[in-house]
Amino acid sequence: MLKFSCPSCGAEIVFKSTASIYGICSYCKSTTVRHDLNLELYGKMSDLKEDLSPFCLGTKGFYKQQHFELIGRLRLKWENGFWNEWFVLLPNGLEAWLAEAMGFYMFSRPSNASNLPFASEVKIGEKYKFQNTIFQVEDIKEATCIGSEGELPFLAPVGRTITSIDLSSADGLSFANLEYEQASAQLTTKLTAKRLYLGEYLNFDDFNFSNLREIEGWRYDH
Ligand SMILES: [Zn+2]
Repeated sequence: MLKFSCPSCGAEIVFKSTASIYGICSYCKSTTVRHDLNLELYGKMSDLKEDLSPFCLGTKGFYKQQHFELIGRLRLKWENGFWNEWFVLLPNGLEAWLAEAMGFYMFSRPSNASNLPFASEVKIGEKYKFQNTIFQVEDIKEATCIGSEGELPFLAPVGRTITSIDLSSADGLSFANLEYEQASAQLTTKLTAKRLYLGEYLNFDDFNFSNLREIEGWRYDH
């Protein structure tokens, strides 16, 4: 765990994951970038609008008997709606993501498969094989970051635009996501232009969540 003072307001900004380079001050919402032991101001982030996510920073759960914690969030907007991607800290420090979209929960880890297609080559219905599983392309969408909080392993300013391609296995249990970052002069060259995430669809109850966000009138029954 690394602790810094916010360059703007002096409040403490904590990085729980050593993979995190981007942190949002929970007090003044300034966005900061970590360079080894320094924290540099990157800009101001608009507040995340309240949504109906049951999660918050600090929500804990289990994935395959491994305890995890949600330590960062990206909120994305596309033509027909919104979704959240939560940055997950696993006990071994490995990076994972919990995507939350319209009642679906997808848990994934980055995969370093080579020879990923270019976004422009991918068509709905096409099949790709990643790590011995065949996936079919279900949808291709453009999405824009409209807010973020906590800590993240890459820069995610408001307006960051990606092409996000979702694929599913024939049995409907596994999913793959291809993410393409659109070039922007603001973003550093440290970023990977193409990313592949592999994971599975799970039900809310599979995670045995705790520290959920408290929303008036909501109850989580198990
Ligand atoms: Zn601050």
